[in-house]
Amino acid sequence: MGRKMSEVFNVEEIFAKNVFTLGKMKARLPKNVYEEVLKVMNEGGELSKAAANVVAKEMKDWAVENGATHYTHWFQPLTGITAEKHDAFVAHPDGEGRMLTDFSGKELIKGEPDASSFPSGGLRATFEARGYTAWDITSPAFLKESGCGMILCIPTAFCSYTGEALDKKTPLLRSMQALSEQALRIVRLFGNTGATKVTASVGPEQEYFLVDKDLYMQRTDLMFAGRTLFGAPAPKGQEMEDHYFGVIRERVGAYMKDLNEELWKLGVTAKTQHNEVAPAQHELAPIYETANIAVDHNQLVMEAMKRVAIRHGMRCLLHEKPYAGVNGSGKHDNWSITTDNGVNLLDPGDTPNENIQFLLVLACIMKAVDTHADLLRQSASDVGNDHRLGANEAPPAIISIFLGEQLEDVVKQLIETGEATSVKEGGRLRTGVKTLPDFKKDATDRNRTSPFAFTGNKFEFRMVGSADSIASPNTTLNAIVAEAFCEAADRLEKADDLELAIHDLIKEYMSEHQRIIFNGNGYAPEWVEEARERGLPNIKSMIEAASTLTTDKAVRLFEKFRIFTRVELESREEIIYETYAKTINIEALAMIDMAGKQIIPAVVKYSRTLADTVNAVKEAGADASVQMDLLKRVTVRLSAMQAALTSLKKVEEEASAMTDAKEQAFFYKDVVKTVMEELRTPADELEMIVDRKMWPIPTYGELMFEI
Ligand code: ADP
Ligand code: MG
Repeated sequence: MGRKMSEVFNVEEIFAKNVFTLGKMKARLPKNVYEEVLKVMNEGGELSKAAANVVAKEMKDWAVENGATHYTHWFQPLTGITAEKHDAFVAHPDGEGRMLTDFSGKELIKGEPDASSFPSGGLRATFEARGYTAWDITSPAFLKESGCGMILCIPTAFCSYTGEALDKKTPLLRSMQALSEQALRIVRLFGNTGATKVTASVGPEQEYFLVDKDLYMQRTDLMFAGRTLFGAPAPKGQEMEDHYFGVIRERVGAYMKDLNEELWKLGVTAKTQHNEVAPAQHELAPIYETANIAVDHNQLVMEAMKRVAIRHGMRCLLHEKPYAGVNGSGKHDNWSITTDNGVNLLDPGDTPNENIQFLLVLACIMKAVDTHADLLRQSASDVGNDHRLGANEAPPAIISIFLGEQLEDVVKQLIETGEATSVKEGGRLRTGVKTLPDFKKDATDRNRTSPFAFTGNKFEFRMVGSADSIASPNTTLNAIVAEAFCEAADRLEKADDLELAIHDLIKEYMSEHQRIIFNGNGYAPEWVEEARERGLPNIKSMIEAASTLTTDKAVRLFEKFRIFTRVELESREEIIYETYAKTINIEALAMIDMAGKQIIPAVVKYSRTLADTVNAVKEAGADASVQMDLLKRVTVRLSAMQAALTSLKKVEEEASAMTDAKEQAFFYKDVVKTVMEELRTPADELEMIVDRKMWPIPTYGELMFEI
């Protein structure tokens, strides 16, 4: 199915070709129905039965005209990926055996997939396995092209019979609503009566690795765990800094071209592509859009990345840490909030010191992030991300905010004197070359090490893992900022002297929460120490972060804005432990398999060859000390591997038998993972000693450089 290199296409023509866009609805629907759709989209509520039937028919006709045979309610269960169950548009044939395709408004709006096999964290016993999917009218339906043909996908939220959220989308939508309501109260204080809605916008930068399919297929670890569990460093890693923004190789370029085409057809605004820091690592960034659509689209991006890779004889690795010793992958979540009359609340303008609304918003965000640093960190945790956060890699597990020199100075003035009378100018950047223009410098420089950085008119949350859904981070961000807005508005709406009250509140919030601002190097060990002194949380792992979901503080926050109930939060905490245990279990089993069936037998064979050589050399009367030394080095490590393998089998069995999810998860982290390391170390050392021809699995050099 892959395209020929020479084939070209027109972006304008193919963009959103497979999406049932507003434009298509406008063209196909009667005016009153189209207007009803718009109203529900913008103001909420439900479509009337009559309108739903009309929309369903037109949507189906459009889909069938474009080759669709099935439809699915497309949803995002707590597995972190998407789920679909296809239903054909077929109905009962008529009396003469003719097929008339059918799709009703009811089928469009509501579905009832069997929910029993999705994670629910005890929310829903299997005997009451009803789960419902409900159409998210704000995210457009689309046609997915795959081996199954064309499938009409209807983005939906997924809830239990009793209304508890079983997915990632429902809480996200709830958080967007909360943020909108509270942000409106803030802009009203500044006389903005025209705004009726405030929307969170999100632009996620997606990092990924590509690997050749044939090599991938020889690696049990990549196939089952998505990351390498063994592997010595290649002679060359990323130290030459020659991959980042480097020339994109032909094979990868052809992949990117195909990927873009797929995404554009799906209405995803794939914009930027480049090589990343590590060899065989790349990035794709779309143009930002409304948070829930960005979440849906990011899922489509991840799916398409995998699908297109297969067509190109490769595999796409979305894991946060496919290879030890080189950079892992993340997903920078760019986030901003904008009113429907066009004001970006995070745009400071040229003189932020005079932009009181911006300063109030900033003060609220400082308060939100400081108060709920633990929750924010939790929202970006998944099993793979434990290898990045807090593991000597970017970014650290400690949440802090980077503001840049200009804003930091404004905040400092406000804290010290209650007023910010001056603003540091960006100044001019002299290129020193007559034929090049001088640039006006940005007032904020970049800080690559900050987990939460202000970048001009948005915040960039950089902790998120590459394989993770961006739903949770954005739900949490929306929620904590909604809370801060709400508390500010509660006070300010009652104030006699509004101007003074705003002034006092900004000063108070900024002073109380200034510890969250950090403009220095987030990777430095001194920062860990300083953060501890400042009292900032440093939560090292996903499972240690899980309990932040059910603290009184968290429950109060999420219940207040009806984003999660306590029960929903408890179920999510439970799922985290289960997911963690299952993932590490798979990794442990993959290691046992590879060590026992591939690596140890190969080393045994190699040591036999060495022993034969030692004997032959000795018999010939020559000095065999080098061979003997090699043999010793091999056998020492072989015994270490065998011992670790035995104990890994033992602790893995012990872990599998545990019944308490939390206890089990911690056992995997503290015991099983430690033994996995004990098995890996001698194996990686052996890889450096054993004859390459006898080593049973592709090396890091091959995996990362042969693409
Ligand atoms: P940078 O290089 O500073 O990270 P880019 O311009 O490459 O910024 O943008 C990175 C991502 O941020 C893109 O997905 C982009 O669409 C998104 N983005 C830009 N402006 C905003 C904004 N106001 N709100 C949310 N996302 C934004
Ligand atoms: Mg960026």
